[in-house]
Amino acid sequence: MPELTTLQHFIGGTWVEPASGDYFTSTNPATRQVLYRAARGDAADVERAVAAAREAFEDPRWRDLSQTRRGHLLRRLGDLIAENAEELAHMETRDNGKLLREMRGQLATLPEYYHYYAGLADKIHGDFLPTSDRQVLNYTAREPLGVVGAITPWNSPLTLTSSKLAPALCVGNTVVVKPSEHTSATVLKLAELALAAGFPPGAVNVVTGFGAEAGQALVDHRGLAKISFTGSTATGSRIAAATASRFIGSTLELGGKSPNIVFEDANIPNAAMGVVAGIFAAAGQTCIAGSRVFAHRSVYDELLERVCERAKTIRIGDPLRDTTELGPLAFEGQRDKVAEYVDLGRGEGARVLTGGNPTDGGLGGYFYEPTVLVDVDNSMRVVREEIFGPVLAIMPFDTEEEVVRLANDTEYGLAAGVWTQNLARAHRMAARLDAGTVWVNTYRAMSPMSPRQGFKSSGVGVEHGTETIKEYTRLKSVWINTSEEPVADPFVMRS
Ligand code: NAD
Repeated sequence: MPELTTLQHFIGGTWVEPASGDYFTSTNPATRQVLYRAARGDAADVERAVAAAREAFEDPRWRDLSQTRRGHLLRRLGDLIAENAEELAHMETRDNGKLLREMRGQLATLPEYYHYYAGLADKIHGDFLPTSDRQVLNYTAREPLGVVGAITPWNSPLTLTSSKLAPALCVGNTVVVKPSEHTSATVLKLAELALAAGFPPGAVNVVTGFGAEAGQALVDHRGLAKISFTGSTATGSRIAAATASRFIGSTLELGGKSPNIVFEDANIPNAAMGVVAGIFAAAGQTCIAGSRVFAHRSVYDELLERVCERAKTIRIGDPLRDTTELGPLAFEGQRDKVAEYVDLGRGEGARVLTGGNPTDGGLGGYFYEPTVLVDVDNSMRVVREEIFGPVLAIMPFDTEEEVVRLANDTEYGLAAGVWTQNLARAHRMAARLDAGTVWVNTYRAMSPMSPRQGFKSSGVGVEHGTETIKEYTRLKSVWINTSEEPVADPFVMRS
C-alpha cells in the first residue's frame, strides 16, 4: 500500500508540523478512499501563524512595497494559478467531489480574481479634503488593517478563499487561512503558489484543522485585525459576537435558502433549465442554491414536468468523468444531513416526486439522488432551513404581490432568481426582493467585479468588486497646519 501523503501547515513560507503532532485524514467522497492526512491545528499552531503573519506585515519588504509592485505579485499569482489549473482542478474534485468540468470552469476564471485586484492595487488612495483655512491641509489615507484571519468552507475552497485573499493582499494585509477540515489540499497549494509568485514568507499562511480547534483558536486570537468568514450562519453568528466584543471587523458570507421565481410569461424551457442549474449544480452544495421554486399556477404543471424529467436523467457518478452531471456530497455527514432533511420533509407532509434516496453512485461514495418535493409550504422546515444538497421544494403562486411576500418570508437574503419576459416586472421584482444578488433569466452568474452581499442572516459586508476594499482597509484622516505664525489662542486651533 502506498504511503499516505501528509500535508503540513504552511507558516512563514515553509511547511510546519503541528505542535501537537496530531493529524486527521481526508477522504475522496466519491469513492471513500482516504486521500491524505493533514496537520491537526490548535492554538499553538495558530499562535505561530499569526506571529509569522505579523512579522511579514511589519517587514519593510512588504510594508513599504509600492502599490504597483503589489499589483505585479497578484498578477503573477493569477498567472501561476492558470499554469497549475489542471492540477488544482483535479485536487479539488478529489477532495470535495465537485465535477471536474465545473472545476475546470472555475479555474478558467479564478486567475481573473487576482488580475482584477492586481489592476486595482495602484488605484487605491485617499482624498484631499477642503478646509476652512487654506493653510491647513486635510487628507485621508487608506491603510491596511494588519493580520486578517480567513476561515472558509468546503464547497468551493479555491474560489471562496480567493475572494478574501486577493483583496486582503491587494491593500497590504497579511493573512492566516483556516480552510475546511474536509478540503485542505488546494488551499495549501494556493499558499505555496503565493510564495512562488513572490509574496514574502508569512504573507499567506495556512493552518489546517477542525473548526472547534484551529478555527476557534484563530477567532480567539488577539493579534487579528479582522476575520473574513464564509460558512454557515450558526458559525458566522458566533464569529460576529466574538469580533464585536473586541471591536474588530468581520466580513461574513453565510447561508441561504434562495427563491427562484417563474412567472407565467417566462420562457418555460429556459426557466426549467435555470431551476435545474440552480439546485442540482454542485449537488446543491452552493450557498446560492435556488432551493425554493415558486411557479405561477398557470405554468406550474409544465415547469414541474420539465424539471422532474431532467432531474430523473441526471447522470450520477464519478466527478472526474466528463459525462457526469451530479457528483457526491462532500462527506458522509453532509450526505446523512440531506437524507435526514428529506425524511423530515416526508414527515411534514411533503411528497417526493423524484429522487429521495441516498446512493453510492456505483463507486461506494456519498451520493444523493436529485430530489423534487411538492405539497410543501413556507411553514415547513424543509422550506425554511438550508439543506445544502440536491433537494428542491417547488410551490405554486397566483400573484406577483403574493410571490414577493413568500419569497421574502425567510431569515436568509443571499440570492434570488426571476424568470419573466416582462421588463417592467423584472425591475419591480429586482427592487422588491430582499436578496443581495438578483438574477433575471439566468442563475449562478458571478464575477470578481460584481459585489456580493448577503442580506439578513446571509451575511455582513461585501465581497468582490471595488467595494470590498473598504472591508480590508481603515481610513485615516491627517491634518497638517502649514502656517508658521505664532498660535494666538490655544483654545481655537486652525482647521
Ligand atoms: P461551517 O460554518 O460548518 O464551517 C465553515 C468553516 O468554519 C470551516 O473551516 C470550519 O472548520 C470553520 N468553523 C466551524 N466551527 C468554527 C468555530 N467555532 N470557530 C471558527 N471556525 C469554525 O460551514 P460549512 O459546512 O463548511 O459550509 C457550508 C456553509 O457555508 C453553508 O451554510 C453555506 O451556505 C455557506 N456558504 C456561504 C457562502 C456565501 O458566499 N455566502 C459561500 C459558500 C458557502
